[in-house]
Amino acid sequence: MRTDVGLTRRELLTNIAKAGVPAAMAATVGVKAVEAEESIPAPNVPLGLLYDATLCIGCKSCEVACNEANNTPADTDAEGLHEAPTDLNVFTRNIIKLYKPEGNSPSSFVKRQCMQCFDPGCAAGCPFEALYKDSDTGVVRWEGSRCIGCRYCTITCPYSVPRFQWRGINPLITKCELCSHRLARGLKPGCTSVCPTGAVIFGPRPALLLEAKRRIKNNPGRYYQDRVYGETDNGGTQCLYLSRVPFEKLGLPELGPEPVPAKQLRWQRRIYEYFALPAALYVGLVAVIRKNLAAHEEEAHQLEKETGLRPQL
Ligand code: SF4
Ligand code: SF4
Ligand code: SF4
Repeated sequence: MRTDVGLTRRELLTNIAKAGVPAAMAATVGVKAVEAEESIPAPNVPLGLLYDATLCIGCKSCEVACNEANNTPADTDAEGLHEAPTDLNVFTRNIIKLYKPEGNSPSSFVKRQCMQCFDPGCAAGCPFEALYKDSDTGVVRWEGSRCIGCRYCTITCPYSVPRFQWRGINPLITKCELCSHRLARGLKPGCTSVCPTGAVIFGPRPALLLEAKRRIKNNPGRYYQDRVYGETDNGGTQCLYLSRVPFEKLGLPELGPEPVPAKQLRWQRRIYEYFALPAALYVGLVAVIRKNLAAHEEEAHQLEKETGLRPQL
């Protein structure tokens, strides 16, 4: 359930029309400056995925199930025969990739989708809260009516997940929202309903973390550094990973325990501070000019009444 409120696209356009760009900008600066001080509240029941790359056979059933669950077309090869996306894209919220090093080092499949970060960079970057964290499940959702298509979230996500349509004047963002529409109907996410090996499973994050640690304990030497990616990385993510190869090789960067948004927000705050004074001065200047124009108009009106002549302003 969403509880926060911010500017909608309609409100933004109304602000611009009524008061000019600087006032709308100042309103935005105000919203983000306040938010920068706030911490993200913990969701009631954080839901997520556990993907164990050592169990994945690369069958791509989960890719097909993701398309079906989200009513998106298959991203097929040149002959149109096989599901063959090369990366996440506007139709592909879930992709299986293969890491295959030279020599005898082990290869690995990897499933990539949104990580459902505890402190999501995409949401921290969005000026209008079009991306937000559901307070019940912690799933990072997108609300189209708030999105102005600035694509800032594609830069602030440390995992390069959100994708935009590049055509049209009202572009849509695409990313995994943990099949929230299915969860609302009591169904599991599409990808976790079909995996033949149990490589990807769904559940509350605490239970998934326990299961990951159980697998590490029961299988000495099987998992890289006996570590669960996402337990603390980037401040913690609701989608967790186990792997036999280094996580960086699978496209999961070493981000450290501090969430990227915290770092971003510190920089944003400085940028807003830098822009806040000129914006405030500009708004003040516009107000003074409007006041002077009104005074001149009144003067001209009086003169016209007394002399019958209309002076040029
Ligand atoms: S992985 Fe990227 S898109 Fe997904 S919640 Fe984290 S920051 Fe947002
Ligand atoms: S949870 Fe749903 S949208 Fe996300 S990867 Fe799985 S099937 Fe796709
Ligand atoms: S369905 Fe399971 S085994 Fe097949 S590619 Fe997806 S995660 Fe791997």
